[in-house]
Amino acid sequence: MTDTFTVQYFNNSITRPAEPWRLAIAEKEYSPDEYTKALEHIQLAERERAFDATVETSATEVERRAAEILSRIRNHDREQVYGKALDTNGQPTGKRTQGEHFLGNLDLIDQTDLMNITKRMPKGAHLHIHFNSCLPAKFLIQQARNIDAMYIRSTLPLTSTKNLAASRISFMVMTEQEAAPLADLWTNNYPSNGWMPYMEFQQKFKVEDGDRSLHGTAGAETWLEQKILFSEEETYAVSQTSRGTQMMKGLFAYESAFRNYTRACIEDFVKDNIQYAEIRPNFMSTNSLKTNDGKGSIRNEGIMEIINQELRNTMLEIEGQKGYFGGMKVIYCTPRIFKKEQIEVALDDYYVAFVDDEKGFDLVGEEEMGNELRHFVPEFLAFQRKCKEQKLEIPFLFHCGETLQVGDKTDGNLFDAILLNAKRIGHGYAVARHPLLMQIFKEKNIAIESCPISNEVLGLTPTIAAHNLPILLANDVPCTINSDNATFYRSSLSHDFYQTMIGSESMSLYGWKQLAIWSLEHSCMDDKERENVIAEWTRRWEDFCQWIVEDYAWVESWEPKLTRH
Ligand SMILES: [Zn+2]
Repeated sequence: MTDTFTVQYFNNSITRPAEPWRLAIAEKEYSPDEYTKALEHIQLAERERAFDATVETSATEVERRAAEILSRIRNHDREQVYGKALDTNGQPTGKRTQGEHFLGNLDLIDQTDLMNITKRMPKGAHLHIHFNSCLPAKFLIQQARNIDAMYIRSTLPLTSTKNLAASRISFMVMTEQEAAPLADLWTNNYPSNGWMPYMEFQQKFKVEDGDRSLHGTAGAETWLEQKILFSEEETYAVSQTSRGTQMMKGLFAYESAFRNYTRACIEDFVKDNIQYAEIRPNFMSTNSLKTNDGKGSIRNEGIMEIINQELRNTMLEIEGQKGYFGGMKVIYCTPRIFKKEQIEVALDDYYVAFVDDEKGFDLVGEEEMGNELRHFVPEFLAFQRKCKEQKLEIPFLFHCGETLQVGDKTDGNLFDAILLNAKRIGHGYAVARHPLLMQIFKEKNIAIESCPISNEVLGLTPTIAAHNLPILLANDVPCTINSDNATFYRSSLSHDFYQTMIGSESMSLYGWKQLAIWSLEHSCMDDKERENVIAEWTRRWEDFCQWIVEDYAWVESWEPKLTRH
């Protein structure tokens, strides 16, 4: 055994005192005692390198007890709410297992104690959510009920079960002249994509759906909601995201819905125990929000003004009710299928609408189909120069690496994101397959906005247990947890945190805490804002742990019946 450790780097060698685990693995023949000791040394060394090691080492007594309780609750749920898929004779039991597909498990998840605890967890900052898909789909559908200037259209006449299933629906607020010639979706001679007043559509709605009969406004709303949502069978269908996005777009694009939605969205963040958020609306130069009568339109600056007004008013209301919300910033998103000139216009437009505050810039849309970041490098570099001249710090927060491939153009975006000095990246699913990039992400302190449920539903991982998050965390790459398009997955940020806890045995209360801390550290808040939000979050975290210890102490005396496998 040697007590020093030497590494060879080409012609150089570095010698330094060996750590106990290095000495332990140098031993070739072990006595049983030495073997046990060696094992402990390696396990301890790994534990010390864990992403949540600092949190664990500095944990209070209450946190330690809460962490232990949380781990037992996860096992208790596994035994009480879930079950084994096959019985001892190999016959199906009809039960679902913990960690089976999210969409199929959702109703069970909502009944678990772990989910109840997850909802109470102070999440810190929510950093990756598309603004048109934050709230349950029915919110916007209900907003449209009484809007005279709302029109609906379909790719197919809604005259058969087959057409009802295959049709693609969209909405728009406009004047009657713009909608003309009007059409009737319920007739055989309906011309594809002809507009029908939505009020009339609701009155005529009548669909036999299996043993259910849907009719009138309530029936129309149920049917439309189902068309927006993903089902477990539709998993992996990116086309479903675009189908849903297309439907939501028109429901979102008029003033009263946009204002009500903004308010409800902030209230929803508060309900989910989120202290601060960065939302991603889509902005285009042709973007406009219609006034409710369909006659006027509001441009990007006006849209920003509406968001800010609603934010101010809602924050005052929340404060009045002794609640807390620390603020919300907007990340300017523009489609990656845009041409260079359009991106230039978007970056210029950014100044008009956004220059008053530090926010961020992103490209959205399916990476496989759109342009790679490299395509716009000259425009991005010019934008950065302009920001620097004006002493502005506008970070890039790019969607990238949302792929399973190594070496394709989507994966290549990761390299450009690094060189373009991205502050964070969205998804970064491919990062776990690039050891050097993981190292760079750590050194440059670039955080990953991980979206576990979105990745599972869109097929990057078959189950949460196979998600890349534990690998990134094992490498101590800073990560945050996000819901991406919660509307389509019927999820909330709490559901994503829930999935991280059941996806990996190595996730614990300490891990959750580190993820929340990273979300606050890597947000676009200025120092003063961050200090305030962290102070509030810390208070809430202490209360949360105390609540777990008080309300779930019963699980400490629970004896599990089942073994894990
Ligand atoms: Zn996204």
